Order: sequence, then structure tokens, then C-alpha cells
Amino acid sequence: MTSQDATALILIVEDEAPQVEVLRYNLEREGYRIVVAMDGEEALEAVAIHHPDLAIIDWMLPQRSGVEICRHIRANVETQRLPIIMLTARGEESDRVLGLDSGADDYVIKPYSPREMVARVRALLRRTRPENDEGQIIFEDILLDIVSHKVTRGDKRIALGPTEYRILKVLMEKPGRVYSRERLLDRVWGSDIHVEDRTVDVHVGRLRKALKSTGGPDLIRTVRGSGYAIDNPDSI
Ligand code: CA
Repeated sequence: MTSQDATALILIVEDEAPQVEVLRYNLEREGYRIVVAMDGEEALEAVAIHHPDLAIIDWMLPQRSGVEICRHIRANVETQRLPIIMLTARGEESDRVLGLDSGADDYVIKPYSPREMVARVRALLRRTRPENDEGQIIFEDILLDIVSHKVTRGDKRIALGPTEYRILKVLMEKPGRVYSRERLLDRVWGSDIHVEDRTVDVHVGRLRKALKSTGGPDLIRTVRGSGYAIDNPDSI
């Protein structure tokens, strides 16, 4: 799945322009897409707007520290699973511990080699990508096979239309994340096609019905006024 990893969108949160440029150069060369934030406010805005696949956050930032930003991201149900690499200066032993304590998945000590950073990014994306090596995404008892487009729940095959399949795939890639109708439209139909919000509801309804046909619990959560998520009701 290297090609899919390589198109991942990486958020760089760093206030020092030369540092940003080194990271940008090395990550873009590997095919990653980059979005940059210079401070905490910009970072949280970028997370909300661009939905990055991974964030590299510098510890030392003006106003909010990298750790604070990290905690914010972890405290929000929509972003809590965002893979985060914390950047920290050499020798800040307690900071390192705090960095991991704040919920960062990994940390890299400055000065670092760009090659190492790229390797860490690749490893973290691989560790946190939704599908396993067989190209399957699994959530609870639902198994979605990306290669064959087949969906099973328990042992039973679930017949889905292409739209319902795409909705399920989007939801299963980020369990717990709430997708607004607008965002589902973007991800499932594409942004240049006009589809009514109501159409989203209809297809989600069909998907819900198909998934429940095996007798299992309803894992599609409707968030009033916000949208939809796939969730285990016991874990909310
Ligand atoms: Ca900095």
C-alpha cells in the first residue's frame, strides 16, 4: 500500500521557516502532500479544515506549546486518532516523557536527519493505516475487503450498492470520527457533483439496514445536526 501511504497529507506545525522548508522538501520528495501551520491556532484550524493523515508538531511554539496542541487534538473525538510525531530539542528528557504522555505517538529529537524523519513518518502511517496487509479494514465484526469490494459481518456476506460501500469505507477508515453530510458528500461523490443532503441520509439509511440485516447491533451513529460516524455503542 506504499502508493496510498505516499499521498498522505502531513501537517507540519513549526514556527521556524527554515525547519519547515527542510521538512517540506524531504517529505514532498517522497510524494507526501504538506500543509503548514506556524502556531497553535493555525494548527487546530488546519486539523479541522484539512483533516491531515499525520501531524508533525514542534514542541517549542509561540503561545500554545506543541504539547498543548497535542492534548487538544486528543481531546476532540473527531481528531483523537490523528497520528502525531512530536519534535523536541536534544536532552529535554522530562519533555520527552511529557511529549509521549500528551498523547504523541512518536517523537524525534532535533537536530534530526531528514532521512530518519521520513522513515518515522512512513512507519507511523503504516502502523496507523486502517487496512491490514491483506487489504482489509476491520471494525468490530465488519470486514471490508478493499481488493474485492466485498463486505461481511460475522460470517454473513452483506450486499451493498457502490455508494453504500464507499460510505462504509470512509466511515470505517476513521471509526469514531463524525462526518458531516457535506464531508461525506465530498468523500463519496466528489466535490464537483451536486447532491442533496437528503440523498446522503437515504444512502446511510440503506447502509444501516444492510448492516443490521445480520442481527448485529447498529454501529452507525447519527449525530443530530452534525452527521454520521461508525462507533461501538458500548465504547461511547
Ligand atoms: Ca519551533
